[in-house]
Amino acid sequence: LNKATVIGAGLAGSEAAWQLAQRGIAVDLYEMKPVRMTPAHHSNDFAELCCSNSLRGAEICTAPGLLKEELRRAGSLLIACADATRVEAGGALAVDRVAFAAMVTEKIKSHPNITVHAGEITHIPDEGHVIVATGPLTSDALFDDIKNKIGQHEYLHFYDAAAPIVSFDSVDMESAYFASRYDKGTADYINCPMDREQYDAFWQALCDAEQAPVHGFEDKKVFEGCMPVEVMGRRGHDTLLYGPLKPVGLRDPRTGKDPYAVVQLRRDNAAGSLYNLVGFQTHLKFPEQKRVFSMIPALRNAEFVRYGVMHRNTFMDSPRLLDRHFRLREQPRIRFAGQMTGVEGYIESAASGFEAGLNLARELKGLPLIEFPDTTAIGALGLYVSNEANVKFQPMNINFGIIQPLGYRVKGKREKNTQIALRALEQLDELLDTVKEDVL
Ligand code: FAD
Repeated sequence: LNKATVIGAGLAGSEAAWQLAQRGIAVDLYEMKPVRMTPAHHSNDFAELCCSNSLRGAEICTAPGLLKEELRRAGSLLIACADATRVEAGGALAVDRVAFAAMVTEKIKSHPNITVHAGEITHIPDEGHVIVATGPLTSDALFDDIKNKIGQHEYLHFYDAAAPIVSFDSVDMESAYFASRYDKGTADYINCPMDREQYDAFWQALCDAEQAPVHGFEDKKVFEGCMPVEVMGRRGHDTLLYGPLKPVGLRDPRTGKDPYAVVQLRRDNAAGSLYNLVGFQTHLKFPEQKRVFSMIPALRNAEFVRYGVMHRNTFMDSPRLLDRHFRLREQPRIRFAGQMTGVEGYIESAASGFEAGLNLARELKGLPLIEFPDTTAIGALGLYVSNEANVKFQPMNINFGIIQPLGYRVKGKREKNTQIALRALEQLDELLDTVKEDVL
């Protein structure tokens, strides 16, 4: 009786399987890697970060920072592994992606309550409790099966974009410098400055560069939160200067001034041998990426160890399909978790997997479900994606806008967010305390 199936061992599925197993539930975890790979996954390990190695803000006055702190306190596997494989990245929690995925995989595979099966699942099992966490690149056969199961409701497609990675050795450090914006924290970013003339030439080339062909999708909407750099560039000469190429607070030590434009490189592995181009998600053809991005003076001889790519991203119209616990309203034995529910991002996916796994375990044990309140980031996410008032539903990163406001005025954004975060953590601690006996 106390068993469950989890499909997909990505960010959400790994966390869900762990939460179930930790509560004594026997888990069958199905992952199609390495038998079959999605277009964006390359490693055989679980919880693969297929683009950025950053799990975003670390401080609780940022919404991703609060969500991570809540998960940390609640016993998340993924946050424990992220903390253990952290690399320096200023105010963000970034990880060595290889070490992170290897650690999650080892923990899952060695758990006595988890049985891992390699291979693609093409149908949701007809019986038993299931968590489907197959992500934005869910395989086609399963996609069709899910589509049939949810009846008249439609899946939506849109595009996501990933940034290129260069080797550190190939960056011309004579034309670049380490610094953090406004000298805050440690100087972890490599900054590649451009003067006006260099920027003009780069911008023009970027706007004119050839994109890779796009096939098979009717809906070519670009997700605003992950917009390709060339799309942003085409919006106007100065748009990038207020976006990823913003120079303010990045004084060039050689001139003592802020440059005209700055491309930032963020460390991509613990060894510091790889760096990604921050905000440079792109859908340009690979030779065009090489040609245009090499116009950045510090990258004139750069070795691109991975080019930027654009991929399908699939998500459900969750407000019409799921309840706050990620259960399919019409068939509550089936839960969904991760990006496909319309939570957007690594941590958000892990958080939905956490909630789904934890509450499925409680359901199987006959315990009342835990309702994380809308004052917490975990609760706010589940309530957001299941809120029928969201008519034109779009995926959502965690942000303070979806968490219950304080109800009184506080001066300053940082102070206000800190107070929201402290309230969330206090309420979460109380809640965890009341269910402590149950979850052991
Ligand atoms: P995944 O982590 O993708 O896990 C799903 C797993 O299910 C995979 O391992 C897959 O192999 C497996 N699977 C799929 N179909 C089947 C099947 N039929 N049977 C068995 N197994 C199956 N978010 C960020 O926060 N930062 C980023 O930089 C970022 N970049 C992204 C780049 C790309 C190209 C994409 C597509 C998404 C990106 N995202 C990013 C969004 C999202 O947060 C991640 O995709 C995240 O990994 C989603 O977690 P998940 O658990 O839902 O899915």
